[in-house]
Amino acid sequence: MASRKPLVAGNWKLNGSQTLLNEMANVLEDINSQEVDVALFVPALLAAEAVKLGLQTGVQTVSEYEAGAYTGETQAALAKQLGVTYTLVGHSERRHVFGESDEDVANKFAMAQQQGLIPVLCVGETEQQREQGETESVISAQIEAVIQKLGVAALSQSVIAYEPVWAIGTGKTASPQQAQDIHQFIRDKIAQQDQGLSQGLRILYGGSVNEKNSEELFAQQDIDGGLIGGASLKTGAFVSICESA
Ligand code: PGA
Repeated sequence: MASRKPLVAGNWKLNGSQTLLNEMANVLEDINSQEVDVALFVPALLAAEAVKLGLQTGVQTVSEYEAGAYTGETQAALAKQLGVTYTLVGHSERRHVFGESDEDVANKFAMAQQQGLIPVLCVGETEQQREQGETESVISAQIEAVIQKLGVAALSQSVIAYEPVWAIGTGKTASPQQAQDIHQFIRDKIAQQDQGLSQGLRILYGGSVNEKNSEELFAQQDIDGGLIGGASLKTGAFVSICESA
């Protein structure tokens, strides 16, 4: 079995500050980077500063457009120039608050890769979709939109994050088994098209991960780390989560 290095990613959303960034950079220095990759997805305005502090940095979305008259957008090429490594694409808040479709997300994924950023493709079902037995079809469609546009090989330079919408910011975590089942489903789905790629692909779990539940989640066979929202704003909790990976 391919051994995958875990990745723990903090998603600050529209939170955080210069002060917190300095504190976080300090405490993360002690994490053993041989054992776990740690990245911080800060608000775009803090990205340059995060890079300067030596952090592996991500932005939370990028524009699907390369450049031009698109007021308010975050440019992938400029993020890359500043030293940013990753971008989230298709976070559930982008999909559900800002109305991004599977196609929009695939376009952003494409632009991120074209400019040399590593996209972290977020997928996940709503509570209603889970209750109606649509979890797998929803996730399939979210991933298929990218495969249709770019081919399965594009996933080799990416990360997938499974985040059930009902678990984000709610304190309701998927059980380790529930999460493992979906991670395995995702890996098997991709294996049908490219076995080797699927074994090397990092699939993160996100949704109310904290320092108490991270160890058990990360111990699951197909869970390769986490995407951490609320708990990534607390230095102690985030460091514990990184250490548990
Ligand atoms: P949460 O957020 O950890 O606060 O649930 C996760 C996310 O939205 O990425």
